[in-house]
Amino acid sequence: MNLQPKRLIFQCIALISANLGAFGLKTGFCYPFFYCQACPAATSACPLRAIEQSVFKGLITWRFLLYPLLLLGFFGVLTGRAVCGWACPIGLLQRTTSRIPRRLKKYRFIRNLGTHPIEPYLRYVKYLLLIGLVVVTPYVIGFMFTDICPVGFLTGTIPILALNPGKFVPNIFFPLAAIIFVLFLILIFIVERGWCRYCCPIGAFLAPFNKISVLHVVVHTEKCKHCNVCSYICPMGIDVPNMDRDPECILCGKCVSQCPERIIAFER
Ligand code: SF4
Ligand code: SF4
Ligand code: SF4
Repeated sequence: MNLQPKRLIFQCIALISANLGAFGLKTGFCYPFFYCQACPAATSACPLRAIEQSVFKGLITWRFLLYPLLLLGFFGVLTGRAVCGWACPIGLLQRTTSRIPRRLKKYRFIRNLGTHPIEPYLRYVKYLLLIGLVVVTPYVIGFMFTDICPVGFLTGTIPILALNPGKFVPNIFFPLAAIIFVLFLILIFIVERGWCRYCCPIGAFLAPFNKISVLHVVVHTEKCKHCNVCSYICPMGIDVPNMDRDPECILCGKCVSQCPERIIAFER
């Protein structure tokens, strides 16, 4: 079977397994990807929430801090950012919306977003969010990324509002979270995998592991015909022939499947 249908099956299984709470299965474990524990059907805990709670106002709880770090580190060392390409439900969401930003590329303004000189620097925003809002502000003042998380708004707040509108009591961050959620939607509809490229703290945590992970993508450039099919198809906007264990690679395998010369491969 082609790689991409297999990947879709993996992603659907991960989505279902993330929502087994609807059938009463609550594991108490953390997800190794981005999904909100406030979702009424959630099976596990959010790794970001666990980290934030562990450092809340300087009271470090090592047990809860180490658990998500070890879990994400385990997947990172073995497969780099493959969790993003193969398991994360928010990655699956952006896979389903990806045709829209690709179609919008016919507009010069949208096309230029991806090639603007500032674009590579925007990719560092996710590291700032990870350090700033997941570690520093929870530690210092108790303000957390998950207070304003658009994924929490999508998979937690909206379903709760839909199921129990009368019982929902918005906290003081609700208006800000709603605005950020709208910005999140705009982002993923104008830039393919925009959330993963620029904002996701879990993607930021996993990205450096691409440099050392056992599984990684290799391009045998000596046989490259410079057709650029790989870079065109890449959902993360990577210059594929020139990448060297790029932290942005989510190991989706699209370039592996599409290279006409068959010179891109997963290697261990
Ligand atoms: S970067 Fe974040 S949202 Fe995107 S696939 Fe990875 S964990 Fe999921
Ligand atoms: S470089 Fe290849 S495997 Fe990595 S994200 Fe791009 S298309 Fe997917
Ligand atoms: S698709 Fe293959 S041959 Fe074409 S530029 Fe990419 S690596 Fe080179």
